Amino acid sequence: MKTPIRVAVTGAAGQIGYSLLFRIASGAMFGPDQPVILQLIEVPFEKALKALEGVAMELDDCAFPLLKGMVLTSDPKVGFKDANWALLVGAKPRGPGMERADLLKDNGKIFTAMGEIIDTVAADDARVAVVGNPANTNCMIAASKAKRLPPERFTAMVRLDQNRAQAQLAKKAGTDLTAVKDIYIYGNHSPSMFPAFAHATIGGRPAAEVIGDDAWLRDGFLSTVGKRGAAIIAARGLSSAASAANALVDHVRSLVTPGAVHSVAVKSNGAYGFDPAVWAGLPVRTTTPGSYEILTGYAMDDFAKSKLAATNRELVEERSFVAELIG
Ligand code: NDP
Repeated sequence: MKTPIRVAVTGAAGQIGYSLLFRIASGAMFGPDQPVILQLIEVPFEKALKALEGVAMELDDCAFPLLKGMVLTSDPKVGFKDANWALLVGAKPRGPGMERADLLKDNGKIFTAMGEIIDTVAADDARVAVVGNPANTNCMIAASKAKRLPPERFTAMVRLDQNRAQAQLAKKAGTDLTAVKDIYIYGNHSPSMFPAFAHATIGGRPAAEVIGDDAWLRDGFLSTVGKRGAAIIAARGLSSAASAANALVDHVRSLVTPGAVHSVAVKSNGAYGFDPAVWAGLPVRTTTPGSYEILTGYAMDDFAKSKLAATNRELVEERSFVAELIG
């Protein structure tokens, strides 16, 4: 039996948490032979902590053989203690009439604290995955507070956008989803993100050739993927929490699987012309479990370059809103 790994999750009693925790405990994230201890963190309010107790009762009732323990806490110093993975799902939602800059600043304070605490108390091999929005910038802030853990340990999720793009290409081409390969997400987890369709293949052929509708690829495809979250809210009256949780399972699973090529928001280091200091969605190849290299060899045409420039501008602007928090 392997030693259990400690997985800390913030926002654990939220919507995404409710879809996520059961998948982690079942082995979907770390594999069918990897026991886990869940360290569940919620805000220090009675309603949230009571809800968290209820979720923990349900986890008990699933009798997951891999679930070797749970910690329920509102204290991040307890919740992140010795964590091997920190999944930062909780974030302050945008209130009515709230400006984007205010949302960035409010969440910036939360992620400043998280970065500092994780860096102090988490395990030496700790890895961080940020889902709480604005995820790229929250991740950058948390990483900027870390002195012990290097920036490449901090990643943000753009996998939901990749999964959405793959599904839309398959639908349009009328093929099985598994025939669609090499569709990766560049930039911000926002409607400005860019799924670089020119590199995608369907059944081994260029996706553009199979689909034969360039106008759709440049317009309908990009806007469908970019605005998918809003479309789901409009349809079901609730956000796309289950698919977000599923994407986080994929994000981490791919990061612990050597050889996997997938989209992750990481410190760009200048790849594809991104500002070197921002966290941008990029294609990466997992090298050893938890580590990766950025794949920099994809050629970009003028259309792609203009999309990359636009999403980079948004990331740089987000960074400017929280400049005083970074360092
Ligand atoms: P969710 O669990 O639905 O969402 C959590 C975060 O994930 C939000 O920032 C949300 O961004 C983001 N997100 C990213 N992708 C998606 C997606 N596809 N669909 C939906 N959300 C996505 O939020 P809840 O309000 O249900 O739960 C949040 C929990 O976090 C609560 O239990 C709350 O108590 C806790 N919380 C923790 C804080 C902290 O850690 N300090 C601060 C505030 C809350 P978006 O809002 O843009 O949809």
